Amino acid sequence: MIVVKFGGTSVGDAAAIARAAAIVTSRLPRRPIVVVSALGGATNALLAVGEQSAKGHLIGALRGVETLRERHLRECETLLGGTDAADDVAGELSAMFDELAHLAEALSTLGHVTPRSLDAIASFGEQLSSSLVTAYFKESGIDAEYVDARDVMITDDRFTEAEPLSEVIAERAREIIQPLVRQGKVPVMGGFIGATSGGITTTLGRGGSDYSASLVGAALHAESIEIWTDVDGMLTADPRVVDDARLIEQIRFDEASELASFGAKVLHPNTIAPAVRLGIPVFIYNSRRPEGTGTRITFDAPHRPVSAIAGKSGVTLVKVTAPRMLLAHGFLRRVFEIFERHETSVDVVATSEVSVSVTIDDPGRLEELLLDLRALGDVSIERDRGIVAIVGAGICDTAGAMGRALMALGSVRIHMMSLSATGINLTVIVDGASVTPAIQRLHTEFFGGVNA
Ligand code: ADP
Ligand code: ASP
Ligand code: MG
Repeated sequence: MIVVKFGGTSVGDAAAIARAAAIVTSRLPRRPIVVVSALGGATNALLAVGEQSAKGHLIGALRGVETLRERHLRECETLLGGTDAADDVAGELSAMFDELAHLAEALSTLGHVTPRSLDAIASFGEQLSSSLVTAYFKESGIDAEYVDARDVMITDDRFTEAEPLSEVIAERAREIIQPLVRQGKVPVMGGFIGATSGGITTTLGRGGSDYSASLVGAALHAESIEIWTDVDGMLTADPRVVDDARLIEQIRFDEASELASFGAKVLHPNTIAPAVRLGIPVFIYNSRRPEGTGTRITFDAPHRPVSAIAGKSGVTLVKVTAPRMLLAHGFLRRVFEIFERHETSVDVVATSEVSVSVTIDDPGRLEELLLDLRALGDVSIERDRGIVAIVGAGICDTAGAMGRALMALGSVRIHMMSLSATGINLTVIVDGASVTPAIQRLHTEFFGGVNA
C-alpha cells in the first residue's frame, strides 16, 4: 500500500487532474491511497472570501464564491462533460458552493470571522477537489472511492493549526480506509482538512496536505509516501530563488526536515515526523514529468557537507539581555515558559553569557510576550529579519564547509548564528532583504553556477 499525494498545481485544472489519473493508474498494483489538495490557488481565494465576509463586504465575498464556482464547474465539464456522471457531480459541487455562499452571508452579517469559521470556509477547497477527482478517476477506469477526510483526520480544536491525534487517526484509517484498499478500491480524500472528535471542521495549517499524506501513510504502515508537485523533487535551493538549483536524488530524513522547517516549501515541515517513526520512505515527484527520478527521502543518503540551502524572510528576532541573571539556573526555563504561555514557537536560539536571542515566525502575540519578557531583563525586537539554513549531514565533518559558507556570505550582514545540536544545520539570521542574495551566494559556492 502506498500514499500518493497531489498538490494544488497537480490538480489545478482538468489537464492536471487527467495527468494525476494516469499516475494513479500506473500505481494501481501498489494499492494507492490518494490525498489531494485544493485546486491551485483555491485556498487563497477561499480565505479571501472569509476576509471579505469579516469586513461585512457581502458582494465581494459572493463574487469570490461565484468565481470559484465557475472555475470548478468549468473543469468538471471538461473532465466529465457528456458522461452519465456529469450532471450529478456538477450538482454536488454546486450544492457545496450554495453552502459556502450561505456561510459567507452569515459571517458578513456578523461582520466577524473566527478561526473556526475560517477553517470551515478553507475546507471547501479540499472537499471540492476530492469530490471532483474521485468522480473523474471513476470515469477513467479507476475504482475510486471518496473518503471524507473529516471522518479520518481527527484533530484537536486549535483551529487553523490543528494538531492531529495520531492514535485516533490510525484507528479511523484502519476502520474506514483499509477495508476499501483490501477490496481493491482506491480511496481518495482531501488533504489539509480534519475535524475534532465532536465533528467540527479543522485544518492542519497552510500547506498541510503533505502532512495529511504522511499521517495516513504512518497510520496504515504504507510502503512509501509519494508527494507529487510542480518541481522535479527536492532541489539544492528554491528554484524561484536560484535558477540552476539541482535535483537531490536522495536526502536524509533529518536534512529534509530541517530544510522544510526553514523555508523549503516543497514539503510541509511536519511531513517527515510520522514517516521517520516507521521508516517509510517519502518520494517527491514532478506531476508534469512523471518519468523523472524525483527525490527519495530515507535514513540512508549520501553524506555531503552541504545538501541544500533554504531560507525565509518575515522573521522576528527577540533578544533578552539580563547581565546578572542569565547564568542563574532556571533563567532560560523562565524565558521559554513565557514563549510557551503565549503559544509562540521559537525557531532558532543563540545564547551568550549575558543574553539570549530567539527567532519567531509568528509575531501575533508579540505585545504580550514583551510585557512578560521585560520582567526578566532588557528586551529588543528586530523585525524583518530572515533565516538562511545551510543543511548537510557533513557540515561539521571539517572546518572547511562552515568557513566557506561564512566567506561566501561576504558582505551580507549576520545578526545571529546557530549550529543545530544535530550538527547538520548551520543557520544564520540576516536582514529579510538579504535572504535571496545570501542563498544565491551560498548556492554558487557549494554547487557552482551563475547566481552570485
Ligand atoms: P504543492 O502545491 O504541490 O504542495 P508547493 O507550492 O507547496 O506545491 O511546493 C512546491 C514549491 O516549493 C516549488 O514550486 C518551489 O518553488 C518551492 N520550493 C522551495 N524550496 C524548494 C526546494 N529546496 N526544492 C524544491 N522546491 C522548493
Ligand atoms: N490547500 C491547502 C493550502 O493551500 C493545503 C495544501 O495545499 O497543502 O494551504
Ligand atoms: Mg505544498
